[in-house]
Amino acid sequence: MTQTNEHDVVIVGAGPAGSMAAIILAQKGYDVLLLDRYNFPRDKICGDAVPAGTIERLWHYGLKDKIDQAVERGEFYRVDSLLLVSPRGYDIEADLVDGHEGAKSYVAPRMHFDALMQQAAVDSGAKFCQAQAKTPIMENGKVVGVQAQVNGSTQEFYSKVLVGADGVTSVIARNLRPKEEQHEDKHRAIAIRAYIDDIEETPHEVEFYLYKEILPGYAWIFPTGNHSANIGLGMRLDHFRKYNKNLKKMLQEFLDMPAIKKRLLNGGQLHDVATWQLNFGSQANIEYSFDGALLVGDAAGFINPITGGGIYNSTLSAELATQVIEKALQSGDTSQQALQAYDQLCHEAMWDGMKSSHRLQRAFMNFPWLVDILIRFGKQSDSLTQTFLNKL
Ligand SMILES: Cc1cc2nc3c(=O)[nH]c(=O)nc-3n(C[C@H](O)[C@H](O)[C@H](O)COP(=O)(O)OP(=O)(O)OC[C@H]3O[C@@H](n4cnc5c(N)ncnc54)[C@H](O)[C@@H]3O)c2cc1C
Repeated sequence: MTQTNEHDVVIVGAGPAGSMAAIILAQKGYDVLLLDRYNFPRDKICGDAVPAGTIERLWHYGLKDKIDQAVERGEFYRVDSLLLVSPRGYDIEADLVDGHEGAKSYVAPRMHFDALMQQAAVDSGAKFCQAQAKTPIMENGKVVGVQAQVNGSTQEFYSKVLVGADGVTSVIARNLRPKEEQHEDKHRAIAIRAYIDDIEETPHEVEFYLYKEILPGYAWIFPTGNHSANIGLGMRLDHFRKYNKNLKKMLQEFLDMPAIKKRLLNGGQLHDVATWQLNFGSQANIEYSFDGALLVGDAAGFINPITGGGIYNSTLSAELATQVIEKALQSGDTSQQALQAYDQLCHEAMWDGMKSSHRLQRAFMNFPWLVDILIRFGKQSDSLTQTFLNKL
């Protein structure tokens, strides 16, 4: 039966993953409906570091002018180098690598970055609706749409393919994945983020502080320009629970460290302090495709376990998903059998990197002194610096 409000693709969530998928499919002429529980611009708790590889992916879909204009307006702040500081205070500085086509990396507050992408999706022809998804609609075991709250009333949106891009708390993933495939605490992290003003600027450099209490996590200071920065810290969830930590207290303890106090010149007030979770891509044997539906980005769980970076993989997974969706729509077969090519593509593109990052993460947790050794004796080519450079 054809429903009156059926779309080729309904995408739940207009973060980087959902908007990327919407941009690509809408540019190819498909009928795409993009849903988000918020209107844009809206904040998303993040370190805001957007690597050059993501910028180039957006260039490929015609977003170069929009990005250049955001840089000109001062919304995206260019970063050229990275500083890693070890538990005992050794440090290593390295240049960030430009993209293959010359793109730079940026600290781009998500208030601006996500609004740019969501607008690009609409400009590409996707329809946008502010709606809070509640549950996928199933017919004979197949996903055929999503039920959502719109302005206080329940509406049903039907799809040939439903894309779950609703982030780490995804209702689509929760409903479609079996319980044993939900992320375990050792493949998750918890993090706190704030903005800080009136600080000493280290122009165009992102800073990572790796110290004993939070390893294999870290604290960061990412400049946003004008003597302000995104500042925060994150750690593995099992570690956090085991030691009964309090993130706000930990952030204060970080700010009170003599070296950090000196670094920030006793700098300004924190604002927009908030916590959020991360799902790593290191958990094996979980599905990303279902009968009539796919998961992309954080809803699938593609964050790198050592850097905490997820924007690159969100846009990558969206791109891979659109390849499979396009074939499925062309053949008229949107069954799990047709869509599961997506699992294979994700595995090929990301799994080796996730596995090696997970190994490094475990090593840092068990042997924190390893970080001192790597940073003290490491050069630009050392594996730790390279991991951060490549995966940020
Ligand atoms: C503290 C912190 C720091 C981080 N720092 C970095 C960093 O510096 N660089 C980096 O690359 N990555 C970083 N990450 C990871 C990065 O934020 C994520 O990987 C990225 O946002 C994933 O994009 P996404 O589109 O999959 O999900 P999200 O960005 O979470 O977007 C999901 C969207 O879905 C919407 N949504 C959710 N539920 C519903 C619903 N029920 N109905 C409708 N809409 C819904 C949300 O409103 C949101 O717009 C960080 C994460 C955290 C928590």
